[in-house]
Amino acid sequence: MARTIPAAQLRTTVSGIIAAAGSAPQEAQTVADNLVLANLSGHDSHGVGMVPRYVDAVLEGGLKPNAGVAVKLDAGSLLALDGQRGYGQVVGEQAMGLAMQRAQETGSCVMALANAHHLGRIGHFAEMAVARGLVSIHFVNVQSRPVVAPFGGGDGRYGTNPFCVGIPLAGRPPFLLDFATSRVAQGKMRVAHNEGRQVEPGLLIDEKGRPTTNPGVVVVPQPGGLFGALLAFGEHKGYGMAVACELLGGALTGSGTWHRPADDRRAVINGMFTVVVDPGKLGTQASFEQEALAFVDWLKQSPPAPGSDGVLLAGEPERQARREREASGIAIDDQTWAEIVAAGAKVGARVA
Ligand code: NAD
Repeated sequence: MARTIPAAQLRTTVSGIIAAAGSAPQEAQTVADNLVLANLSGHDSHGVGMVPRYVDAVLEGGLKPNAGVAVKLDAGSLLALDGQRGYGQVVGEQAMGLAMQRAQETGSCVMALANAHHLGRIGHFAEMAVARGLVSIHFVNVQSRPVVAPFGGGDGRYGTNPFCVGIPLAGRPPFLLDFATSRVAQGKMRVAHNEGRQVEPGLLIDEKGRPTTNPGVVVVPQPGGLFGALLAFGEHKGYGMAVACELLGGALTGSGTWHRPADDRRAVINGMFTVVVDPGKLGTQASFEQEALAFVDWLKQSPPAPGSDGVLLAGEPERQARREREASGIAIDDQTWAEIVAAGAKVGARVA
């Protein structure tokens, strides 16, 4: 069973809980806006269902309300920043603000963001950049439970390490590719588990390394207290990309990599290695715009394959979901809602 809630109402509910957990009103609003936008975009895995985890992380001390980015290095086109375990929705926006400004001054910026608490949808940060006509590339690692098995391995060793690239298209909505390097996002398994659904074959292995369709293997402890694992997308190629995310987002940023047994701490720490480029300063703006549009049009002219509605460009499904959910509201399953209500109760926020 699910309830359908208008986006505005959900923002009020979430900002109330985040504020009760210790955030200043502006921070609570930014976190709520970001999470609800993820739901609106069709990514419930990164939406308001994260609130219980954030509340637990604050209560444990792993997530620090009202922290901002600290500048560790500011050297020309290089920026090294520390999120100080603040809300990723806030420190991520601050970090992108600095990186975009630098890219507009110098043509490009390599920005390393360490120790952000969960950054949520990485596409949000690429959307900030493309809105200013900038290209933005993001490699992110995740320090929480190691939930993805390396290609050829039988247990989880790293996180769902997302990759994202946003490319502005002149006069059109941008190309916005934003995905976890696991076959599916961990949060989608939480949603499926909460809804009592099995998932398609090929996504998961159980705690003994055997294929399974039960999403619970990565959500709740299995016999012996062990967890199963997600598989990488694209076999060895996706696995390699996930390792690149760990090495760039975790090691190169100074945020840290995962190399220890699982624990049950609730904080989710992201490191994000970002490259922002201003095409206007690269000297290729005119041909970039023309060639990009020519290529996109060429793609779109491909005849629909049998059973398909035709070719989409990355970013289109999210924009379509936003149009629909802005109009019809956001469906929240009963289990997720009960967890949100319980999270509110932990910090003294009553959720109606
Ligand atoms: P997904 O599998 O739904 O893939 C999404 C991407 O594929 C989008 O760019 C979308 O526009 C594109 N896409 C989808 N269908 C398409 C089609 N038919 N044709 C062309 N393009 C298409 O996403 P996911 O892997 O489940 O990731 C969901 C979200 O989770 C992302 O926003 C990601 O940043 C986020 N995430 C965050 C963390 C973190 O620690 N902060 C970790 C993992 C994932």
